[in-house]
Amino acid sequence: MLNFDHAASTPAHPDVVATVAQVMEAHSGNPSSIHRAGQDAARLLRRAREVCAAALGVTPGEVLFTSGATESNNLAIKGTMLGRSDGRNHIVTTAIEHASVYASCRQLEDFGFEVAYVRPEADGTVSPQRLLEAVNERTALVSVMHVNNETGAVQPVEEIGRRLKSLHPRALLHVDGVQGFGRLPLDLQAAGIDLYSVSAHKNGGPRGVGLLMVRSGVKLLPLLSGGSQENGMRAGTENVASIVGAAKAFRLAAEGQAQRAARLNALRETLAAEVRRHGALTLTEPAQAAPHIVHFTFPGLKSQVILHTLEELGVLVSAQSACAAKTEKPSRVLEAMGRDRPHATSGIRLSLGEEHTQEQIRLLSEALDKAVGRLAPFEGRKR
Ligand code: PLP
Repeated sequence: MLNFDHAASTPAHPDVVATVAQVMEAHSGNPSSIHRAGQDAARLLRRAREVCAAALGVTPGEVLFTSGATESNNLAIKGTMLGRSDGRNHIVTTAIEHASVYASCRQLEDFGFEVAYVRPEADGTVSPQRLLEAVNERTALVSVMHVNNETGAVQPVEEIGRRLKSLHPRALLHVDGVQGFGRLPLDLQAAGIDLYSVSAHKNGGPRGVGLLMVRSGVKLLPLLSGGSQENGMRAGTENVASIVGAAKAFRLAAEGQAQRAARLNALRETLAAEVRRHGALTLTEPAQAAPHIVHFTFPGLKSQVILHTLEELGVLVSAQSACAAKTEKPSRVLEAMGRDRPHATSGIRLSLGEEHTQEQIRLLSEALDKAVGRLAPFEGRKR
């Protein structure tokens, strides 16, 4: 099987697997225990926090470990809004955020908060001007993703951050960095980012671990109550082995970013050219595309049908995103971009990673040729 679904999850890096196994075998303490085994685990946790902080260019005190980016996004959004006492109850986000941001905002609306969902331009890029026009004096939080997980559109978060901080310095900026980290450079400090979410399993790390960078001085209401772990911000015994593995994955991802981006961009260009060759497919072409995502639509067919045809041909891809894969509903992201129903229900994401080579792109292109040949006669029948 050829796995072209690296935006959903990446194969674990062998060094990470070895590290996780080693920590699980050799360290059984609870980092909150004050005896030797506990302190040993606490030391591992401290070191992992330092490694993550260096990978992100922040201080260790600004790193909060979570169960993944879904939790990081929930905590960034609900924690910020529920923890306020200054009466500002307005959020600005975009209509194309990951489900964990979108659903958090929707939930807050049920509790009386106001949310502006800014639509992207037709190419999937959010205009900083349109976003900033939605911000007002009551806005407590702006939440924008770095890279859209469905289309691969890179969002101008640096410009958004710079302009937001000069116009509305009291509004906090949260960036969901899950699909950008390790693929694109981003200076969190220069971009004025107060909260930043990342996920280990998108970078060769274990599933079920993530972190939230919380800029020093930013106050959040914890979502999990109990012990005083994570500086009182997240109760529960830390997943020490996975956190140590995640730290290794984040370090490798940050160190290899420039090289990885150059390599993936070259693969992406070949693949995009292959998609463009097919008259039946519409390549999604954002102003700036992330190095690892190629997205197209096959109007007249359902995403799931295309996905399963490619699977029969030995290729794993994604319909919309992994979280939305089981629904036949039109993609919220493509609809927000103004795509009609035949396009919005036929999106396919191909995503690249460490293991891919030009040879694998060639094999994928062959499978794509066959899939288009098989499916083109059915195109439009069920419109
Ligand atoms: N944000 C984006 C942009 C994602 O792509 C994902 C995962 O698909 C998440 C958040 C959620 O990450 P996790 O799987 O760690 O909960």
